[in-house]
Amino acid sequence: MGFLSVLSLAQRWAAERLAPGSAAIDATAGNGVDTLFLARACGRGGIVYAFDVQPSALARTRERLAAAAGGGAAGGGAGALAPVEPVLAGHEQMAERVAPEHRGRIRAVMFNLGYLPGEGADRSIVTRPETTVAALNAAFDLLAPQGIITVVAYPGHEGGDAEAAAVEAWAAGLPAAVAQSVLYRFPQKSAAPYLIAIEKRKADI
Ligand code: SAH
Repeated sequence: MGFLSVLSLAQRWAAERLAPGSAAIDATAGNGVDTLFLARACGRGGIVYAFDVQPSALARTRERLAAAAGGGAAGGGAGALAPVEPVLAGHEQMAERVAPEHRGRIRAVMFNLGYLPGEGADRSIVTRPETTVAALNAAFDLLAPQGIITVVAYPGHEGGDAEAAAVEAWAAGLPAAVAQSVLYRFPQKSAAPYLIAIEKRKADI
């Protein structure tokens, strides 16, 4: 049977904390896979913010959403997608770019680090430790109690190992009174992507 992939487990953990009407953030829209997943999970009354620094990534994300919405009329999919607000900005600006009414109400923030895969993508545009950690701090502040941050880190590419280590250190350093963090990793494959997740505790202190 095998274990779930890190991407599937990240979605599962996010899904468990989302319901129609929820607010969520895709911190790295990329090809839009997680954005679409979040839009489905948050439903018509919800809201999804999708951050990326590349216009081409947001364009791909829009196309994916449009395709899903277009095909959904018969199956009920179209009406079920949450509105998505694409944000062409670094996720380190998350605190300023999320509307005041959603601050402290975000139920899931998903990060998929590294570079945009696929043909013609610019692999020099890659997430970096300093901005990633800044974004994680901003994301944590935006979370609702029991909200989750999922981070898929890629130690296999140059610089990705240092970034993964920075995320792990950040998660490890959160006081247990405010958050719980967990790693999901395949130890036989040291270069493979792995998942770091953080859940905010119920009582804010
Ligand atoms: N590594 C994944 C895909 C990651 S896509 C895989 O292999 O499937 C990562 C996305 O993050 C890219 O689209 C890139 O443009 C975006 N990105 C890079 N720096 C960013 C930043 N500071 N804020 C938001 N998005 C960023």
